[in-house]
Amino acid sequence: MSVTVRVPAKVNVQLAVGAARPDGFHDLANVFLAVGLYDEVTATPSPGGLRVTCSGPDAGQVPLDRTNLAARAAEALAARYGRTPDVHLHIAKDIPVAGGMAGGSADGAAALLACDALWQTGASRPELLEICAELGSDVPFSMVGGAALGTGRGEVLTELEVGGTFHWVFALADGGLSTPAVFREFDRLTEGTDVPEPVASPELLTALAKGDAHALAATLVNDLQPAALSLRPSLADILAAGTAAGALAALVSGSGPTTAFLCESAAAAEKVAETLSASGTCRSVRVTAGPVPGATVL
Ligand code: ATP
Repeated sequence: MSVTVRVPAKVNVQLAVGAARPDGFHDLANVFLAVGLYDEVTATPSPGGLRVTCSGPDAGQVPLDRTNLAARAAEALAARYGRTPDVHLHIAKDIPVAGGMAGGSADGAAALLACDALWQTGASRPELLEICAELGSDVPFSMVGGAALGTGRGEVLTELEVGGTFHWVFALADGGLSTPAVFREFDRLTEGTDVPEPVASPELLTALAKGDAHALAATLVNDLQPAALSLRPSLADILAAGTAAGALAALVSGSGPTTAFLCESAAAAEKVAETLSASGTCRSVRVTAGPVPGATVL
């Protein structure tokens, strides 16, 4: 018997970052949108103990040891229910690795749900979300999906209404960017300045609620973008190429280096993707839409 869970990637339509706290974390106002790029995690009983395997174009960059978030999720659930995590987790990976699209977090949420179904723990939804929050700031959103505002370190979620489907192109860049390195660069760039408290933009929340792509395009904002561009200046060329190709707006996704382009329609997104592909500025492009549901047992 095995259980497979499908889990989406995310884009931050707003990522407002506060000053570094004494514990080194940053307060965030983080508006997440789940988009239709998916990993699938399959949990199968493994009498020999916990084992992780991974397939897909980026599989070589995924750690297969206990640092993998999927393994940590299985261990956390097993510990809570006093059992051994005797499970084989296979990750079929389509979300870019270290791309700022929460791929590792997605696998953590998917593994948790898959093991929960396999082991029939009877854990409640709030309990699963509590384990998600312990695993990492972005993990609860991967479980919930749709659209949500994350505050605190990003892990305190309020689900948001979305009045339509938004069409996106994602441009994948060569190599990853480390999220902690991007936050350190943010700290360096903002040193000595007055970093405002992070708050969700009311205009952005209204644009989401109305499903208005033009209004959303006018309000997209990522406070980590200057830091990502500082570490990877070539991302500016990709952003410019997408905007020139007709995207309504362009931004770095999370900590990057994936870049995101909001488009007026599915047809417009196909056109932007074609032009971006031909521009030679990025590794590959993906066309998708959101919001989509969170981790789901197949
Ligand atoms: P975020 O958007 O949440 O900041 P990200 O999308 O930039 O994250 P991930 O793909 O989650 O980045 O990977 C970041 C690092 O986490 C990888 O370089 C890898 O070493 C580690 N990692 C742990 N578990 C996984 C996993 N299941 N899949 C991918 N990377 C993982």
